[in-house]
Amino acid sequence: MSRLFFVPAMRLHLLFDLDRTLWDFDGNADRTYRAMFEEFGLRNLCNVDYEVFHERYRVINDTLWEAYRNGTLSKELLSVRRFSYTLEAFGCDAESPEIIRLSKRMGEYYVEEGTRQTGLMPGARELLEWLHPQKDKYSLSVITNGFSEAQLPKMKTAGIDKYFDYFFLSEDIGYMKPDRRFFDAAIAKMGVTPEQCIVIGDDYKVDILGAMSAGISQIYYNLSGAPLPEGSPKPTYEIRELREIINLIL
Ligand SMILES: [Mg+2]
Repeated sequence: MSRLFFVPAMRLHLLFDLDRTLWDFDGNADRTYRAMFEEFGLRNLCNVDYEVFHERYRVINDTLWEAYRNGTLSKELLSVRRFSYTLEAFGCDAESPEIIRLSKRMGEYYVEEGTRQTGLMPGARELLEWLHPQKDKYSLSVITNGFSEAQLPKMKTAGIDKYFDYFFLSEDIGYMKPDRRFFDAAIAKMGVTPEQCIVIGDDYKVDILGAMSAGISQIYYNLSGAPLPEGSPKPTYEIRELREIINLIL
């Protein structure tokens, strides 16, 4: 495998996405939703099994997140509607005060319970432990669009916050990935150039195209090996497993 960075004196700044890149978002969320499903008695309320409820939630949540990223939906509405719309899909009235109240409580529960989950992506901890003692060669940062009240506690509970020099949260920066201003602001804060950085992320559209637009090299963590959309620009590197990163940056 070819080496990415050759100049030994240059410190490489690794910017990691968090959800689905380091933190096992899907595994952790699944445990959280299952607990929520029991806690709020949703089987009876919606007359449906967890799997059906969760699949519908996932689709609704993805759509609402897209609107949040585009700036057409506020965080507060996203937090409530992802649950009220799902409840509506199973016969509840999304506009009724009870359902809105219930959805708010579910939103709070989700953040609280979610931050107690500690699952990481395969090889994430090993990679961070390999990188951490080599501070002269590598600096580590997190770049995330996730809610700020969730992201830091999540990293603390999972015991990975100690590995990072910077946490770049879209809510603090004022722009969300893939907006290039998010990446510009992060590297300006670090006082480095795009050439000294590399972005590692699982989301082609959000992490990879965003980094590309800011002139930063990218490692696309494509766990499932799904093909890129037709005619889309290739990432600098594509990997299926996190440990492959070591060979790319050695
Ligand atoms: Mg991600």
